[in-house]
Amino acid sequence: MEPLPIATASDTRTNVKALGEDELEAFVQSLGQPAYRGRQLFKWLYEKDARTFEEMTVLPKAFREELSTKARIERIEAERIDTAADQTVKALFPLSSGRRIETVLIPDIDPRGEARRLTVCVSSQVGCAMGCGFCATGLMGFQQNLTPGEITDQVREMNTLALERFGLPISNIVYMGMGEPLLNFDNVMTSIDILTHESGFGLSPRRITLSTVGLARRIKKLADTQPRINLAVSLHAPTDAQRSAIMPVNQSTSTDLTALREAITYYTEATGRGVTYEYCLFDGVNDSVTDAHKLADVVRWAPSKVNIIMYNPVKGLDFARTPDDQLHRFIETLVKRGVTVTVRQSRGDDIDAACGQLAVQEA
Ligand code: SF4
Repeated sequence: MEPLPIATASDTRTNVKALGEDELEAFVQSLGQPAYRGRQLFKWLYEKDARTFEEMTVLPKAFREELSTKARIERIEAERIDTAADQTVKALFPLSSGRRIETVLIPDIDPRGEARRLTVCVSSQVGCAMGCGFCATGLMGFQQNLTPGEITDQVREMNTLALERFGLPISNIVYMGMGEPLLNFDNVMTSIDILTHESGFGLSPRRITLSTVGLARRIKKLADTQPRINLAVSLHAPTDAQRSAIMPVNQSTSTDLTALREAITYYTEATGRGVTYEYCLFDGVNDSVTDAHKLADVVRWAPSKVNIIMYNPVKGLDFARTPDDQLHRFIETLVKRGVTVTVRQSRGDDIDAACGQLAVQEA
């Protein structure tokens, strides 16, 4: 296959993969075409995975030629794939900006060694502005938002890989990679529209989970915009003092635990869905039995479950993993208090693909 033209910073043509279906309709109308041509374009971009306008034979030839001069199809492809001992896969994608992102494919392998479920963890930004004290991505600072196409291309590439390696398509998508998805709100919502559209990837919204650091106002907006996907909230501490010490976002009254409580109540009432609280255990920081009791009080706000995450140490950061006996005491306390608890096993930590470990090393 011919190499694809690489978009450059000086390429002013419209990147059609930065647009959702409605915007594609508006774009083709701006070129004097009827709106349905925009829907045809959408179908060829995602269902048929066209790389060039010339391939889109459903469109008139003159319009395809006009598109080639006024628009471009930006596409990202993995330049490096690492595989962990547990078969978790991490892919490195270069962007047209020259920056890079990482995406992880996490297979759930049954006792016979066959994959039952394949989850893709996508990035929504390069770096992250939230600066959580325990996170490698936070150390990078915020660098850029990803377009809808850059997000959905991660899914497309990982789906191809899943079929090659495991003989199955991906089953779940989690927005838990690099970045805070609610700070790239419009592009993330458009990417979800594409992933769930019957002419896009056709995935059920039930198979998509968005994980946020807990931006209260945007959680409410999410409830109004995409009420059918799953929401996970990174809690990581049961009191304002403890949470503010490790998550700067909590230091504002618009995003502290009181604001979060109000937003989550709104979310559960508006959507009829519960939330998952992510709680990463750090040795001596948030893992005492007293912390577990306080956590049980906090999560009673609304229908929920707590997903305990075992910390994956990050070089240069002063946090350590909670010992197993403390983990068991913590879980036992929560369960006795009637909290639904799951424990997420660490995956892919030998290739720095585990939670909180994604950070592109620039050469
Ligand atoms: S944990 Fe999430 S929100 Fe916090 S710095 Fe890392 S990527 Fe950003």
